[in-house]
Amino acid sequence: MINSVSDIWETVIDRLREKKNVTNTAITTWFDDCEPVDVSDNRMVICTPNDFKRGMIQQRFAEDIKALLSDLFSAEMDLLILTDDELEDYNSEKESKKLMPEFSEYTFENFIVGPSNRAAHGAAIGASENLGSTLYNPLFIYGNSGLGKTHLMFAIAHHVAEKEPDKRIVYVKAVDFTDQMVSALQSGRIADFRQKYRDADLFLIDDIQFISGKQQTQEEFFHTFNAHYEAGHQIVITSDRPPIEISKLEDRLRSRFEGSMMQDIQPPDLETRMAIIRSKAAKLGMVLSDEVVAYIAENITSNVRQIEGVVKRLTSYYQIENDTINVDSVKRAIKDVIRSGTYIPTPDIIIEETARFFSLTSDDLRGQRKNKNIALARHISIYLIRNLTTLTLTEIGAQFQDRNHATVLSSLHKIEDLLKTDPDMPGTIRDISSNINSRN
Ligand code: ADP
Ligand code: MG
Repeated sequence: MINSVSDIWETVIDRLREKKNVTNTAITTWFDDCEPVDVSDNRMVICTPNDFKRGMIQQRFAEDIKALLSDLFSAEMDLLILTDDELEDYNSEKESKKLMPEFSEYTFENFIVGPSNRAAHGAAIGASENLGSTLYNPLFIYGNSGLGKTHLMFAIAHHVAEKEPDKRIVYVKAVDFTDQMVSALQSGRIADFRQKYRDADLFLIDDIQFISGKQQTQEEFFHTFNAHYEAGHQIVITSDRPPIEISKLEDRLRSRFEGSMMQDIQPPDLETRMAIIRSKAAKLGMVLSDEVVAYIAENITSNVRQIEGVVKRLTSYYQIENDTINVDSVKRAIKDVIRSGTYIPTPDIIIEETARFFSLTSDDLRGQRKNKNIALARHISIYLIRNLTTLTLTEIGAQFQDRNHATVLSSLHKIEDLLKTDPDMPGTIRDISSNINSRN
C-alpha cells in the first residue's frame, strides 16, 4: 500500500527506472538529491538543488512523471519542481494557508448582502481595504449564531491574503486562545504564545464572548489587543452579543470594545433569505423552483446555518433518490435539519464548559471537594445537564462519582432557587449555555 509522500515518490522513481530510455546513471544523476515535498490538490511537489537540475528534470522527465502519477492516482496529476531556495517560501506559504481551507467559501463574493447585514458587510470591506485605519479599527461584529460573523471575518482575511499577500494574518477562536494561553503558561512558553498572537498585520479573534469570567485570559488579551492597537494592526473581533451583554468582563476591556467600530448583524429579511437560498443551491448545482425557495425562506427565519443545512439536505435527496424537489421534500428536509439541528451536548462538554467558566477543571467538578466555588459550579453543571440532555437523575449522578439521585435533585433545587434570588444567576446560566452551544 502506498501512503506517504516518500512512498509515492519511490514508486514513481522505480517505474521511471523501468522505462527503456532511462538509464540508471540518469536516475542517479538527476534524482539522488531530489526530494519529494508534498502531494496535494492533484499535484506532486518535489525539490531539487538548483535551477539547472530543475530545467533538466522538467525537460526530460516531467511528462513521464506526470503520466506515472496520474496512473497511480487514477486522476490527472501535475508536477511542481522547486529549487532548494524556493522550498522555504513554499512551506511558509502553505503554513499560512492552513487556516483557510475549511473556510475557503467564506468570501465577500459568496456573502449575500441585505438590510440586516449591509452595515457590517460595508465595515468588513472597509477594514479589509484600509487595514488599521482609524475608521474601521478595531472592528467589532456581533449578532446571534449562524448569521455570518465568521463568514465576514474570513472574507476579510481572504481579501487581504489576495490583495496584499505579504500581510501576516492570524485567526484564532477565543476559546483556543484561552486554552493555548493556559498551556503556554504551564509549559513556560508564554513568550512564544505572545509572539504568535502579536505578530500580525491582521488579527482576527472569533467568538470573544468566551472570555467572559476568565480573568487571566482577559488580562492576556488586553495586552494582546493593546500591542496590536499601538502597532496600528487591524483587529477584528466577533461576538454573539454586544460588549455590554458580556458578563464578567473587565471594565478596561469593555471600554476597548465599546470604543471599536461596532456593527451588528440581524437575521436576514425574507428577500435576503431567498437570495441566500438561491445562491447556496446554485453552488451545489441545483435549481430550485420559486415555490420551494419561498417555502424554505418562510419557514426558516432566524439562522442562515439552518437554511444552508436544508439546502444541503435537498441535494442529497436529489442525488440519492433522484427526487424532484417539491414542497413535500422540503418539509422533510426541514424536519431533518431541525431535529438534527437540536444540538444535544454531552455531559463531558457541559462539565468542561462550566468548569472553564469558573476557571476550574472538570475533575474539580466531578470530585468531592466542597469549597463554595467548586460546589456552586458543580450544582450549575448538574442543572445544565438536566436541562440540556435527556439523562436521568441517576445517570447524572454517575457522572459525578456516583452521587445518588437525592444529591442530584438537591443540586437542581439549589440552582432553581438561585435563579429566583441571585440577580447574576440567569446571566451566568445563559453565558455557560451559550458557550456549550458554540461547541456544536
Ligand atoms: P456565525 O459566525 O455568525 O455563527 P457563520 O459565519 O458561521 O455564522 O455563518 C453560518 C453559515 O451561514 C455559513 O455557512 C455562512 O456561509 C452562511 N451565511 C451566513 N450569512 C450569509 C450571507 N449573508 N450570505 C451567504 N451565506 C451566509
Ligand atoms: Mg462564528
